[in-house]
Amino acid sequence: MLLDLRTIYAVAAATSIILGCMQLGAFATGRFQRWPLWWGLSSLLIGFGILLTTFRGTISDVASIGLSNTLTWAGYLMVLVSVRSFAGLRPMPILYVTAVVGASLLLLLWIEPEGFSNRAALISLLLASCDVAVAREGVGLARREKLRSAWILVVLFLPTAGLFFARSVLAMLGQLGTELFPAGPVPLQWTSVGAAALLIIRSNALMLLATERSSNQLVALAQHDALTGAMNRAGLEQAMQQFTGRLRQPRRVALLVVDIDHFKALNDTHGHAAGDEILRLFAEVARGELRSGDIVARQGGDEFAIVLPGIELAEAMRVAERLRKAFVTAVTDRPGIARAPTLSIGVTEGDAAAQTLDALLREADEALYRSKRTGRDRVLPRLEAMAV
Ligand code: GH3
Ligand code: MG
Repeated sequence: MLLDLRTIYAVAAATSIILGCMQLGAFATGRFQRWPLWWGLSSLLIGFGILLTTFRGTISDVASIGLSNTLTWAGYLMVLVSVRSFAGLRPMPILYVTAVVGASLLLLLWIEPEGFSNRAALISLLLASCDVAVAREGVGLARREKLRSAWILVVLFLPTAGLFFARSVLAMLGQLGTELFPAGPVPLQWTSVGAAALLIIRSNALMLLATERSSNQLVALAQHDALTGAMNRAGLEQAMQQFTGRLRQPRRVALLVVDIDHFKALNDTHGHAAGDEILRLFAEVARGELRSGDIVARQGGDEFAIVLPGIELAEAMRVAERLRKAFVTAVTDRPGIARAPTLSIGVTEGDAAAQTLDALLREADEALYRSKRTGRDRVLPRLEAMAV
């Protein structure tokens, strides 16, 4: 079957231009940051670059070879710019302009139609490197932000890198023919079909990533306390479910319930903003004192729950004592607080699979209540542990 390469190019060009307009439309809604602007511009540049290529032989070589290659390369490189922008990485405008101008000048060396093999070798190599760089950013996004759809980006960009690399090698070996649209059958014409399809499909990959990112942000917002950054009750329940669901993990947990002493008086004396500052300070101190797998959750007001997976009661008491002292030190270091607030902490421990979170919280709450009654600024274990 003979595929008409010029038609394939024309369809790819039109689709890319339409997608570019859609991406710019998405940017115009103002719901996103800058990346859809770069993404849309890249689709337009690639679209117009391919469109000019489609007219090769019927319009001037300067437009259909020189300008078309420059536009396509500039658009391709801008895909990398938009992925980096999505990842929040620093833009590198000077490097971008240098790469576009440098490659365009080099391609001008072979502007005549006979330079096809050399041009194809160089531009294919450039496009392959660009795809590899985008795939690399995809791996970075998947690792840093745990965005699973970033792997789709990788899977969509690596095949084109392979195709362009193969095309470059063929061109260097003189196996790619002497012109882009020869009269007879084109070698490897199906690779052009594949590349065009990938070019179009991958144009939407960043939208998938954006959707996953915003849904992750929503979940994080719903599970965290805005003031302190600690988890809220919903987040704590979810974290406990995940913990008990993980089979190979130890299921013993220690639970601390922490309440700031005389917090109301601090609010009344120094104002609500100073109170907020102390709540944030507590969360910060707790994060610094605990392991990464431990959970700090704000129960409400000045009360926090802390879950320490795989820890026995005696060890949990030591952790609580360390936290109490670290908080006192941190508060004392703050200027302007007349009477440094202290912590009362109730501690319990149990099997997270056998006991509900509520039951553990009740035990720790009861211990906290006793610390308050017996003078505050202390750590006490649950009742049975006191009797032993
Ligand atoms: P105790 O030693 O018995 O714990 O005394 P307390 O004054 O700390 O009493 P309690 O724990 O009941 O007081 C909680 C106070 O926390 C009451 C409320 O005004 C204040 N509070 C609740 N939420 C916030 C908040 O988001 N910011 C600030 N600044 N204060 C809050
Ligand atoms: Mg209190």
